[in-house]
Amino acid sequence: MSHGCSNVLIRCMDYRIDMGVHDFLLNNEMLGDTDVVSVAGSCKDLLKGFGWSESKYLLTQIEISIKLHGIKRIILTQHENCGPYGGLEVFGTVEMEKEFLIKEMKELKQKLAKRFPDQEILMFWFIRPEMNEDTVPWDYQPVED
Ligand SMILES: [Zn+2]
Repeated sequence: MSHGCSNVLIRCMDYRIDMGVHDFLLNNEMLGDTDVVSVAGSCKDLLKGFGWSESKYLLTQIEISIKLHGIKRIILTQHENCGPYGGLEVFGTVEMEKEFLIKEMKELKQKLAKRFPDQEILMFWFIRPEMNEDTVPWDYQPVED
């Protein structure tokens, strides 16, 4: 392997979280050391079951990251007001949306842990700023098992 990095990060394609993800990578010394997979709904299609073409496509991204770059860590992220899940309108409250999306992220972590037992898997929740969500970096917090 002529070159490599330490992490692959799975994120939603939503432009609003760009600066927050950048801050996350920078603050955790992962900027320039992370493959980033950006897809609508982040973990959503990976969780449909590994037989679905969408989840196969996403799994392939992780496998390529492992094979080509020798990563040691998979970072799962989800964020508030995620459109592919229906956003706040579907869940009613931020708390209910958070509970559901984090439950999904934990389920995915368990599945990925079986498939990639050598990888450390971390989870983070991105929080919508109270104002100017398009221009203010979203904050984030770690999610425990
Ligand atoms: Zn989203």
